[in-house]
Amino acid sequence: MNYGTIKYFDIANGTGIRTALFVSGCRVHCPLCFNQVTWDFNYGKEFTESVEEMIINSLDDQFVEGLSILGGEPFEPENQRRLVELLRKVRQKYHDKKNIWMYSGYLFDKDLKPESGRKHTEVTDEIFSMIDILVDGPFINEQKRLDLNFRGSSNQRIIDMKETLKQGKIVLSPLNN
Ligand code: SF4
Repeated sequence: MNYGTIKYFDIANGTGIRTALFVSGCRVHCPLCFNQVTWDFNYGKEFTESVEEMIINSLDDQFVEGLSILGGEPFEPENQRRLVELLRKVRQKYHDKKNIWMYSGYLFDKDLKPESGRKHTEVTDEIFSMIDILVDGPFINEQKRLDLNFRGSSNQRIIDMKETLKQGKIVLSPLNN
């Protein structure tokens, strides 16, 4: 897996101060995507173990609330298989002390969660069990709004994953506006 950028002390992609990882590769291809260079799976640099360690250690800072993973598309199958390893390490080190947000241009209930979903893999359920928030849905320029919390268009949903898994239905976070 490659990544384009890591932003430390990021405040735009989730609550509080965070580390934000932008992975490479996306097949969603939303028209007017703001980040088309990241569609290429070879864009950026290789996500090595030392890069992974830097990200994990950046969460040690008491002011850092958590980790956000964006793209590109984190839920392309090849990215899921590498990211699940990162998530396991973050949970092993910090348990529930840090929260984890992931973004996807795919839909939770159509593409990702069902076993028949086009981006469901053998690690998708494990990923969902380890994250707190999923922001899902493609960017739709006609529904673009500048006043939205943590997302670009109003079709995108901020999903509370813990409650969603507990209740067996999509539970939106109160952060949706
Ligand atoms: S999912 Fe994200 S990176 Fe992919 S095309 Fe849509 S906006 Fe761009």
